[in-house]
Amino acid sequence: MVFDVVIIGGGLVGASLAAALKPSRLSVALVEGQQPAVHSNDAWDNRIYAISPGSAQFLQECGAWQQLDMRRVQPVEAMRIFGDQDAELEFSAYQLGVPELAFILENRLLLQALWQQLQQQDYLTLFHPARCVSLSWQEEAVSVVLQDGTTLSAKLVVGADGGNSWVRQQADMAGLLTPYHQQGVVANFSAEKSHRDVAYQWFQTDGILALLPLPQQCLSMVWAVSAEKSASLLQLPHEELCRQVAAVSQHLLGELKMITPPAAFPLHLLNLPHIVKPRVALIGDAAHSIHPLAGQGVNIGFRDARQLAQIIMQDQAQQDCGNIRVLRRYERARREDILSMQITTDTLKKLFNNSDPMLRAVRNLGLNAVNHVAPLKKMLARHALN
Ligand SMILES: Cc1cc2nc3c(=O)[nH]c(=O)nc-3n(C[C@H](O)[C@H](O)[C@H](O)COP(=O)(O)OP(=O)(O)OC[C@H]3O[C@@H](n4cnc5c(N)ncnc54)[C@H](O)[C@@H]3O)c2cc1C
Repeated sequence: MVFDVVIIGGGLVGASLAAALKPSRLSVALVEGQQPAVHSNDAWDNRIYAISPGSAQFLQECGAWQQLDMRRVQPVEAMRIFGDQDAELEFSAYQLGVPELAFILENRLLLQALWQQLQQQDYLTLFHPARCVSLSWQEEAVSVVLQDGTTLSAKLVVGADGGNSWVRQQADMAGLLTPYHQQGVVANFSAEKSHRDVAYQWFQTDGILALLPLPQQCLSMVWAVSAEKSASLLQLPHEELCRQVAAVSQHLLGELKMITPPAAFPLHLLNLPHIVKPRVALIGDAAHSIHPLAGQGVNIGFRDARQLAQIIMQDQAQQDCGNIRVLRRYERARREDILSMQITTDTLKKLFNNSDPMLRAVRNLGLNAVNHVAPLKKMLARHALN
């Protein structure tokens, strides 16, 4: 079967690229290893995302945002960040002159809305659940063989297959993987006190705790801690974990009750010197990975998908979307955003994951200082709104 573009991986980022290519006249295949997720109104997904206003706009253009049940989408009006020595930084949508800072929503809810856009489209062929067994290059094309023997030939293959990307390995696109020796422990809670549409974050020497607001007075936690601490948190009785989270969060949200059991994900930094090579482009976690402390991982991925779709469509007259000259434009356009997010999150993680008393004083002074310099605060926040 012959296509212009084959996308491997139908997670949020790969599915968004497939949807964004609709206005092009290109034929597209999407290969996903699993059955698409199904959202349930009865339970909360433990994978929750902070979606930036820029990503929401892109998802609107993809036709997915307007399909969401908005009762399960929580706008964030303000963000309060606490240091480990009486320091605080606060951002508010009001101060920045925007309607909201972000939207908090479940992975499955958004994935389902995106996949709904991909059904019965003339330009798109879906293969799922399907596994790829080989990838090979010819002068003018690239071929993907699936486990059932089907061969897909295309001008361009896009790796959107997540952190352990098979496409990246097949294309021999090695990068620098730096483990953080930390796990992101996630769980959802209902809270005694109202979150008032505020997202909270506590930077501590032994971990970074984020509590994101969810609808119905619920909260989603991401607690980045050492592997040892993560193992012990996962073993705690749920009531005790709730007590510990309430204590670190200074009881600002009162008593907590667990509504989704905890799970943990390993955290690392992945930096690739190149995210393209002839007839291959990487997007999303296949192309980069960052610490979740800024809640930006999937947003960078959406910006990859949006940019790649734009460049492919601009270049359609040339009729070869897999040409390295086209792909290098995508790589150049994405370099600064990816690198600046990697440096910012990595620096903040290292700055706070250190018990040196001098550094401790400096970082807390820094938080308070930023809080009082309005232009600097605006500059920092603007990036996260993209
Ligand atoms: C604890 C934690 C909290 C986070 N919180 C946030 C947050 O608040 N905000 C945010 O923006 N980001 C957050 N992130 C980051 C976010 O989870 C990722 O950036 C995002 O999931 C990347 O999406 P993706 O589509 O690139 O990859 P994935 O979500 O990993 O999707 C990859 C897809 O490819 C499929 N696949 C894999 N291999 C193959 C194959 N060989 N063939 C076919 N299909 C294949 C998989 O089944 C999957 O569907 C967080 C991460 C962690 C660890």
